[in-house]
Amino acid sequence: MQIHSKLPEVSTTIFTVMSSLAVEHNAVNLGQGFPDFMMSEKLIALVNDAMKNGFNQYAHMNGLPLLREKLAEKVEKLYQTKINSDKQITVTPGGTYAIYTALTTVLQPGDEVIVFEPAYDSYIPNIEINGAKPILISLQYPDYSIPWDEVKTKVTERTRMIMINSPHNPTGAVLSENDIEELRSIVTNTNILILSDEVYEHLIFDDIKHQSILLYPDLLERSFVCFSFGKTYHCTGWKLGYCISSSSLMKEYRKVHQFNCFSCDTPKQVALTEYLKNEEAYLSLGSFIQTKRDFFRELMKATPFKLIPSHGSYFECYSYADFSNENDFDLAVRLTKEKGIATIPLSSFYKNKTDNKVLRFCFAKKEETLQKAVLKLIKLK
Ligand code: PMP
Ligand code: GLN
Repeated sequence: MQIHSKLPEVSTTIFTVMSSLAVEHNAVNLGQGFPDFMMSEKLIALVNDAMKNGFNQYAHMNGLPLLREKLAEKVEKLYQTKINSDKQITVTPGGTYAIYTALTTVLQPGDEVIVFEPAYDSYIPNIEINGAKPILISLQYPDYSIPWDEVKTKVTERTRMIMINSPHNPTGAVLSENDIEELRSIVTNTNILILSDEVYEHLIFDDIKHQSILLYPDLLERSFVCFSFGKTYHCTGWKLGYCISSSSLMKEYRKVHQFNCFSCDTPKQVALTEYLKNEEAYLSLGSFIQTKRDFFRELMKATPFKLIPSHGSYFECYSYADFSNENDFDLAVRLTKEKGIATIPLSSFYKNKTDNKVLRFCFAKKEETLQKAVLKLIKLK
């Protein structure tokens, strides 16, 4: 049977490609972003309790009401913005779904969406499958900052949305208050919406404050802000997240959500409601992961890779331009097969496969994993 592909140019995501290759060659996997250390035993026990206590049927389609209340409290505490937990939050099966649903809610064929590259790999296919057009703007190498002057020139009457992601995957770059000002000056008095991917909201280092859209009620009116419990609680396999928006946008969002997934895993929502009372669990995350980043940075000094400094996410990018001219995808594959370490080539995050000779490393790993990985890279010298 033949079908007309909706995504003719799309192949298997780089995360699956590299993780499969890592398994096949028994390589240390610093590619796909997931922790290799244990999540909280307490949180696991809470899920267990919830199941035993009978919380095994459909949850409310918008997410467990008590969980949404807890999330609204967290937002007010962290970002000093009051949101209505009934009308402005929807629990989703992960951040990726939260983003896809936002795009599907608003995009009409012919709409334009401004996307910064390198971009998390689901963004562009999510736009295209909705018949809209990604307007691609490269972040400025090597600090991966947004070229706001260029953004201004790319805005047209068809611009429906601007997508931002801070802390950024794959580069670790974080947006500043000035970036938010630039964004505001572009969208004010227009119909442009914002999608803010904040799945790494707590993974921000060096005493920098996360510039959440939730800090800015005027911008939240036109935004979908997406989060992932998987990133916050070291359980990427749970695939649970949430989206926060204005009441009117959320009303439309839920029309799409209710006929796609309807409702999310109940026992995990019950457990998270209780676990959210432990503020320390998320407040300490930045320093916990920064320790890993600093440990990894120190180790990497013994390799020929050159750090491209950043302040967030659980990824760091390194340039190999000084010692090799090899295409980044080929190098990533070769390092996996021959040296036993998997990474992610940055060209995978560009539609035209821009190759600045940069690899992304995930450092959300046990110290012994990082040591084992870097030992393999020292041998490159
Ligand atoms: N956005 C970015 C930038 C991410 O790195 C991730 C993690 N894969 C997601 C969204 C989605 O998170 P989730 O695993 O909850 O779907
Ligand atoms: N966010 C993770 C990463 O960037 C992986 C997500 C996925 O595999 N889809 O590596």
